[in-house]
Amino acid sequence: MITVLLLNTTYEPIHVVPLRRAVTLVLQEKVHLVETSERSVRSPSLTLPEPLVIRLRGRAPVPRQRAMPVSRSAILARDGHTCQYCGMTLANDWLTIDHVLPQSRGGGWTWTNLVTACPACNTAKANRTPAEAGMALLRQPGKPIGVPVELLHKAQVHPAWRHYLWTS
Ligand SMILES: [Zn+2]
Repeated sequence: MITVLLLNTTYEPIHVVPLRRAVTLVLQEKVHLVETSERSVRSPSLTLPEPLVIRLRGRAPVPRQRAMPVSRSAILARDGHTCQYCGMTLANDWLTIDHVLPQSRGGGWTWTNLVTACPACNTAKANRTPAEAGMALLRQPGKPIGVPVELLHKAQVHPAWRHYLWTS
């Protein structure tokens, strides 16, 4: 199912909604289009660019922030199922989680120390820091800004959502 990230007026992520619902909200002028894809969607009356991220026009209550537990699936979702060293995108089962600072050297199971890695990069990096291994991270791993955890597991995180979901 294609889903769209819904932001608050102040750009905080508050929900993930199905594409059809997002289009309805756009047509009802309840939301602004923030990010769109190059595809378009048709309604009976008009054609509009396919929404990726939408933002409410009016104020809405911000859901209470829940601490988002670090999990393998949440890290993979954050990184778009893409190896953070070589940029290869793989299916979940093929991906590994790399401790940026190795566990053996005190690196923790935290948002900012875990990244998605393909098996080849994880093996090549071994028990070293990226600098020691001469491997650069595509981006620094960030912490979630506040979208409820269950939404991330359900949704395929589109790269265009990244700015709104993660710090760093
Ligand atoms: Zn890789």
